[in-house]
Amino acid sequence: MDNDTRSCNDMLLMIPGPTNVPESVRMAMAAPCIYHRGGEFAALLRECIRGLQQAIGTARPVAILTASGTGGVEAAVANLLQPGDRLLALNTGKFGKRMGDIAALYGAEVTWWDCPPGGAASPALLKRVLAQGYFTAVSFVYNETSTGVMHDIAGLGRVAHDAGVLSIVDAVSIMGAAPIDMDANGLDAVIGGSQKALMLPPGLSFVALSEPALEKAHRTRAASYYFDLPRALAAIEKGQTPYTPAVTLMNGLREALRLILEEGLDAVFGRHAALASACRSALEAMGLPLLPTDRARCSVTVTAAHAPVGLDSKGLVTRVRDDSRILISGGQDELKGKIFRIGHMGDCGIEQLARTISAVGAALAQLGVTCDPDAAAVVARDEYTRHQENPDA
Ligand code: PLP
Repeated sequence: MDNDTRSCNDMLLMIPGPTNVPESVRMAMAAPCIYHRGGEFAALLRECIRGLQQAIGTARPVAILTASGTGGVEAAVANLLQPGDRLLALNTGKFGKRMGDIAALYGAEVTWWDCPPGGAASPALLKRVLAQGYFTAVSFVYNETSTGVMHDIAGLGRVAHDAGVLSIVDAVSIMGAAPIDMDANGLDAVIGGSQKALMLPPGLSFVALSEPALEKAHRTRAASYYFDLPRALAAIEKGQTPYTPAVTLMNGLREALRLILEEGLDAVFGRHAALASACRSALEAMGLPLLPTDRARCSVTVTAAHAPVGLDSKGLVTRVRDDSRILISGGQDELKGKIFRIGHMGDCGIEQLARTISAVGAALAQLGVTCDPDAAAVVARDEYTRHQENPDA
């Protein structure tokens, strides 16, 4: 895929969402609006759901909600948890914390599993904790965007499944970029968002529920009128959504999914893994330590690294933006000023990444840090090629 011809944003978005929207997706969204109670919409809905099912690895229906990612997370939590339920919330950063906070709002009893910044929860430890039989659900973020940490979704999912504990998984910043294998991994609720690897503007979220999760949702005292997942999932049978859907975004979604499936899911996942590896190698070549404490748990969609000692990462982000018209991100909350993050997901290829690495290196040099931006860009290109040829080495 020649990514440079597919995006024509003036500002290159190398943040962890929103991401660059391919031209054909933007064109699809320029189509005239259709009536959402007619056959044309039913066909659109079904096509979108079929594509999402492939991306998520599930045969279950997927609710398409008119809401940003947080809306999807809230929908899952509101339908699966109620007062009396005991949730183990894996707090790996901003988004892990958000899941637990939402659950507390809906009356669940939340126990926090706090990980240090850059840390991940291990399936082995989860197994020991769940073996106590205390928890009814566990929530975790597959890809913790605030720290660039990617969980072992298969390991955590299977442990929860074997323990008979519902797993609620925020996959907002990774759906469409890495395998989720919802059914094979026994995951109960998987949530995605439109403005990340799925290459759309913000505004849609996606929620798939396993059969036990749907049964639980039916039993849960209705806590949300708009986010009534059993109702949303039942409406799919009729080719509808309960309320007026974001038809325009769904036109874009159909095209984005077409692009992904045309490239091939394995190829898309391989491209993201290679980009991430290239990004890590290039940053390390510039002497910038990565935030994740375990290299095996580094994200394939967002790379987080420490700013050089004594340098506020905000200054770096601003200089990259102003000098190169490339947006990267700083840190959030307690990581503000300390780290910076490069998003490399969706409509992104090695050309954009190499440009970004050069821009980061040039900005660092401007800020008085000794580094060789051109050499770092070469490292990125070489590692990308190497990884594409031999991902397992
Ligand atoms: N979860 C994760 C992992 C995210 O990265 C984000 C957004 O960055 C969200 C949830 C929230 O999504 P939104 O801002 O679309 O509500």
